[in-house]
Amino acid sequence: MKRLLCMMMAAVLASSSLCGCAQKAAAADDSAHGSGVVTLAASAAAVMTGKLLADIEEVAFDAQYPVRFAHEETGAKVRMRGNRAYVSIREIAPMLKGTFTLNKDDLSFPLLKDKEGVYVSLSDVAKLCGIYAVFRSDLEEVELFRLTTDFPKIEKGQGKKVAYFRMEDIMADPSLDGRFTHAYLERIRLEGLFLSENTDGFYVGWIPKFVDPVKGISVDVSRDFSFHAADFVYTLDILQNCGGKLLLHGYTHQYANEVSADGSEFAPKCGLTREQAAERMDEALRICSDMGYETDIFEFPHYESTGPARREAEARFSVIYEQDPEAKSRGLIASRKVNGRMVYYVPTPADHVHSEYDAKGILRRIEAAEGTRVIQSLFFHPVIDYGRTIIREDGRERIYRLDEDRNITYMILKKWDELGYRAGPFDFL
Ligand SMILES: [Zn+2]
Repeated sequence: MKRLLCMMMAAVLASSSLCGCAQKAAAADDSAHGSGVVTLAASAAAVMTGKLLADIEEVAFDAQYPVRFAHEETGAKVRMRGNRAYVSIREIAPMLKGTFTLNKDDLSFPLLKDKEGVYVSLSDVAKLCGIYAVFRSDLEEVELFRLTTDFPKIEKGQGKKVAYFRMEDIMADPSLDGRFTHAYLERIRLEGLFLSENTDGFYVGWIPKFVDPVKGISVDVSRDFSFHAADFVYTLDILQNCGGKLLLHGYTHQYANEVSADGSEFAPKCGLTREQAAERMDEALRICSDMGYETDIFEFPHYESTGPARREAEARFSVIYEQDPEAKSRGLIASRKVNGRMVYYVPTPADHVHSEYDAKGILRRIEAAEGTRVIQSLFFHPVIDYGRTIIREDGRERIYRLDEDRNITYMILKKWDELGYRAGPFDFL
């Protein structure tokens, strides 16, 4: 049955090589189910038959934006389904090179169709074809490039110990002078790609709803659609493809008139009732689920909470990603049984990188844990490394590099490597 549902799509094109990612051989072993193969030539429409085509959901797209390929007009469009960007298989085909197969099981998001064609999410195009998007705010156009990464490789040390790395306060803030402009979102994706090459996984602390009450801004990416929010969702999708595991960092990470990420949310001073705290967690989970994401990890904004709010979090999540304030020990993973299941508290004893001048400080805090039972765990705001990443273009290639002498993420991973650690997912679950 799985084979029947496994849709293979062969894009057979003239030229031979495809840069970077995940090129697949066109070995569509589906001959017993001929209707399971879609063959696509550069100039032809996708041909699909029978059940496989019927399985793809038919939708009406919400908006569309022009697509350029390495600065050239293509006539193609990116279609938005909510805030997730899709591109027509027929339209993307001429931009691909080589022969490769996309397996339905490799897609992060299901294919969609309308009367004009079949569509694949832009993040799946990146993951499976090595074609990456840049959202151009000035033109409201999406530009596609072949991507090459030229990152330093961190030699694997002898140790097999796992360290935990968390990107912090990631949110759909549309401010033009903020930390999440289109240009900066690309820097975050760059960082994700670097982490994907040099870790076994990392964490992404996502604030599901951005609000700035004084300016009247509110962005719930499952309901508030915009070109900027689409870029943000594309960024989260790419981070996931890079091995980033999402966690819910509060719901709005603010209260009263505070701006998200500045304020607290569940602290005693916020005065939430237990029911209100629970509602906020449920709304965060709803946004996550509506966007097609999953997580069972929560982190209280500024690590501030009340006992009743923690009980509500423990009832909904398996990991609370902070020091358990009720535990006697500091810097160690704590666990407790809640309704017959285990809930873990994972602290960040190395704290976080306080500023771009804190490289020595974070390396010192990492070293301080050595020879103790304290875990290697910290969090990091990507803004600190924006200026220590390098993007350049060469023809149709976009090339991502790091400023190796100054990039703090690189320094952290290197220090961990020296001490016998590699960043990865929780190894106690
Ligand atoms: Zn935060």
